[in-house]
Amino acid sequence: MRVFQRQNCTHLDQIREDVVPSAQGCEDCLRTGDKWVHLRECLTCGHVGCCDSSKNKHAHMHADEAGHPIVKSFEPGEDWRWCFVDEVVV
Ligand SMILES: [Zn+2]
Ligand SMILES: [Zn+2]
Ligand SMILES: [Zn+2]
Repeated sequence: MRVFQRQNCTHLDQIREDVVPSAQGCEDCLRTGDKWVHLRECLTCGHVGCCDSSKNKHAHMHADEAGHPIVKSFEPGEDWRWCFVDEVVV
């Protein structure tokens, strides 16, 4: 029997509690006039980007490019954090 093991995130030290959201929408989509589905805020620098269900996936792109793996949901009423590298809720 295979036991599902919860992976641990090794990036928790990149979380800053005092980040300020860079915009009220996905910065990159706002620039190009594109639409997004949901928003994610980078917990290292505050970059706001769109989720993986959006066609541009700017939050994921930012995580790869800037090396900032952890985002939180920027949707009203949602309070969870996600690590793009480990693919776990942190
Ligand atoms: Zn991680
Ligand atoms: Zn976007
Ligand atoms: Zn960032």
